[in-house]
Amino acid sequence: MIQTIIAFLIIGLILTGILINPVLVKRRRNRLKYRPFPPLWNAIIENNLPIYLYLSPNEIRRLQGHIQVFLAEKQFIGCRGLQVTEEMKLSIASVACLVLLNERGQYFPRLRSILVYPNAYFVKETTSIGKYVVEERRVARLGESWTNDQLVLSWEQVKHDIDNWSDGRNVVLHEFAHQLDQEDGKAEGVPILQSNSDYTIWAKVMTEEYQQLCNDVLQGAKTVMHSYGATNPAEFFAVATETFFEKPHQLLSKHPALYEQLQRYYQLDPGQWV
Ligand SMILES: [Zn+2]
Repeated sequence: MIQTIIAFLIIGLILTGILINPVLVKRRRNRLKYRPFPPLWNAIIENNLPIYLYLSPNEIRRLQGHIQVFLAEKQFIGCRGLQVTEEMKLSIASVACLVLLNERGQYFPRLRSILVYPNAYFVKETTSIGKYVVEERRVARLGESWTNDQLVLSWEQVKHDIDNWSDGRNVVLHEFAHQLDQEDGKAEGVPILQSNSDYTIWAKVMTEEYQQLCNDVLQGAKTVMHSYGATNPAEFFAVATETFFEKPHQLLSKHPALYEQLQRYYQLDPGQWV
């Protein structure tokens, strides 16, 4: 009898924990969001997020709130001797939080650490050649997003992308778009959408646009999106996100249906900022 009561008590405590935890997380995040935003941080973001001053006062306030939560929850790790500075953290956090601006995603729930290398880093890549032969080579990488709990960035590339905003390439936007895509545990170019009916139109538009990019790249035609988007649907979503934020007018004029899907997903219109 006592054992049964204890078992019920344990189950009750676990269930209460499961129910209460999201409430506590929300309360803690709200406290972080409304903390005063340090003026030094604001100055760093002004210098490192080219579209910052074009945001509305309401959007700036929301972005600052997200940045406070992001910096409190994610760990930055400098690699190959790199000392991670406030400038590095804020430059990365401000672009990462741009994709969350209108509450898309849940602060990248799977992500715990951001590894920052001073410049390109090398990884071993293996490819099968024929049935029994595997080729191993060292390849340079500028960033990657892992489904477990880490994201890797090259600071040199992050800086380059800040200085070249509007070229349609941005490693931080790219890797954090992968994080949104991976939120449901799968990297397939489909983030979590608002309603079930959204998935049908998303699949139709994205498949058509992806096919068109693949054909254009094959024929050597000029494209608004970088050809890397033709690698697979997951890369297509990541590259489309880079283009949406950095070349909104070109994307809207050449691919209105794709722009509309991204605008609906991010609940943002970057065309108004430029
Ligand atoms: Zn990618």
